[in-house]
Amino acid sequence: ALNIPDKQVDSVCPYCGVGCQLTYNIKDNKILFVEGRNGPANLGRLCVKGRYGFDYAHHPHRLTKPLIRREGMPKTGDFTMDPDRVLEVFREASWEEALALAGGKLARIRDTHGGNALAGFGSAKGSNEEAYLFQKLVRTGFGTNNVDHCTRLCHASSVSALLEGIGSGAVSNPVMDVTRAEVIVIIGANPTVNHPVAATWIKNAVKLGAKLVVLDPRRSELARHAHRYLQFKPDTDVALLNAMMHVIVTEGLVDAGFIASRTIGYEQLEANVAEYSPEAMAPICGIDAETIRYVARLYATSKGSMILWGMGVSQHVHGTDNARCLIALALMTGQIGRPGTGLHPLRGQNNVQGASDAGLIPMMLPDYQRVDNPVARARFEAAWGATLDPNPGLTVVEIMDAIDHGQIKGMYIMGENPAMSDPDANHARAALAALEHLVVQDIFLTETAYLADVILPASAFPEKTGTFTNTDRLVQLGRQAIDPPGDAKQDLWIIQQMANRLGLPWNYGHVSEVFDEMRHTMASIGGITWERLERNGAVVYPCMNEGDVGQPVVFTEIFPREGGKARFVPADIIPADERPDAEYPLVLITGRQLEHWHTGSMTRRATVLDAIEPDPVALVHPLDMESMGIQPGQPITIASRRGEVVLYARADDSSPVGAIFVPFCYYEAAINRLTNAALDPFGKIPEFKYCAIKVTPG
Ligand code: SF4
Repeated sequence: ALNIPDKQVDSVCPYCGVGCQLTYNIKDNKILFVEGRNGPANLGRLCVKGRYGFDYAHHPHRLTKPLIRREGMPKTGDFTMDPDRVLEVFREASWEEALALAGGKLARIRDTHGGNALAGFGSAKGSNEEAYLFQKLVRTGFGTNNVDHCTRLCHASSVSALLEGIGSGAVSNPVMDVTRAEVIVIIGANPTVNHPVAATWIKNAVKLGAKLVVLDPRRSELARHAHRYLQFKPDTDVALLNAMMHVIVTEGLVDAGFIASRTIGYEQLEANVAEYSPEAMAPICGIDAETIRYVARLYATSKGSMILWGMGVSQHVHGTDNARCLIALALMTGQIGRPGTGLHPLRGQNNVQGASDAGLIPMMLPDYQRVDNPVARARFEAAWGATLDPNPGLTVVEIMDAIDHGQIKGMYIMGENPAMSDPDANHARAALAALEHLVVQDIFLTETAYLADVILPASAFPEKTGTFTNTDRLVQLGRQAIDPPGDAKQDLWIIQQMANRLGLPWNYGHVSEVFDEMRHTMASIGGITWERLERNGAVVYPCMNEGDVGQPVVFTEIFPREGGKARFVPADIIPADERPDAEYPLVLITGRQLEHWHTGSMTRRATVLDAIEPDPVALVHPLDMESMGIQPGQPITIASRRGEVVLYARADDSSPVGAIFVPFCYYEAAINRLTNAALDPFGKIPEFKYCAIKVTPG
């Protein structure tokens, strides 16, 4: 009888962009267990995170009272997860006192130094409504476009290439379309770990006869199911992809009709890839010419070929170039605009698509309306009754540099953890500590909150209602299942209270009022009503008018660019910013583990997930272990020019010899202390997938 729920609430998984629907089973305001529900993206399936990653919400580390930093307490020292130590650094306060201090100080900085002395980070973990209100607060309350979130760290380069090439940053086809493809290309992605339910659709498609081609320097589990696996050398994506295009061009495998009627710029692309013969590129990318030719022919000549990619493509200084090549491949072969084809950058967080759509990015208002477009700006100025800054704001890493230069003096961070997730995290931590005033809104004392002046205790995913947009452009309803603990409040309430302290007379009641305002300012979701979401649980956009069914597959006739045509953008080889040398002879690749999510603040406090992967590990090739005299399970020190961490070595031959893989979720071995903050010039994404390191035993 103990485990019989007294309530069931249908909602969505809080972790990855697949957007699995689930049901929370609750007793006495506690989640007992979670079951998969028949949602359009998961058809009842869940992965280990969705099924077991829920009891973080009940963890004793939850913040339950507003906290104010004690007078004179320095923003240094090592972060601790020990909740008893929290009150050594912070004192508890009433909401009134905390909000007055948090909002009052930010308002004073704005009034003294101007709005551009402030910045805000929202979160891809929050709802669309939270993202929308947060960016509106920064733009109209702070008076700046310095607002960003973790999309900058995952697919900013993909989005910049997609907007430039095909006019839309979202996917062209849903994941489930793999079951309609003849050829599936997965590059720089590890769906079994990062999008596990999506990986099951890919395996099902293979079983039904699709040919899977995996291109990746790291051999993922999906490679076991692949028709061909190409383990190209790290950092050589453009060489490999240009060589594939060279084959398609020289062997006459292009779709001339598609190129002529639906694209521009093909001549430049054709001229550019002439230099990149498979024979010339083979020694660079480590794949023999005949295999490159085979895979290029396979992709170009199938009835339907689909490309899916992840951070292995995007997190490079040439991330935009990598994505430009993938777009060009699809365009030159006409493998887009039909079911079972297209381009799918697998979105990471459960709402990174929606948060970006809602304008939580420095250069775009909601619905990707550029802030420097006077017509778009005027429309939002009329809707919001405010004057907007016409200049694009700073991005995540640029904001840290601007703090260094004294330009940014105050920040409001909601649900992001840059002290763990930013590259060169020692620098990011020093920058956050140097702020005159930092307000952090979160559910735990994260490594970022540890550096705050005021901490506002917020609500966990199952404690609020809102919409979330998955990687397939499905807008789905997450429903409140339990109440927040203690004095913790819902994020929408906190954002509004902060807005009030900054002089904005906001008074939204139900979350549906915010969604309603969004759909009246964002044409792409104009046809999605709250009632429809409550009834159906999920609606795909574009959905311009009420009654539209929505479009799971887009670009069937035109591309949303000037003239309706897509554009080829050629790319050349640009090396990684920091190459191995005699002092730092190895390559560091960072990423995620199946059981842990991003900076680990939720999953490391989920009992089952923490039990499976409790300690920080580095995956080291057995040959590297042998040459360095390291035993499996032994502690090792990894150092780059920016910092060092100590963690346990795990023998793993999925990475090539000389490349070490480390997950970024472990606060006690925060690997981003080592990563390089060099940026892709277009997407402004840092190079998480490549920097030089050395490893020593102990
Ligand atoms: Fe959640 Fe993603 Fe796993 Fe689905 S695949 S249960 S959305 S983490």
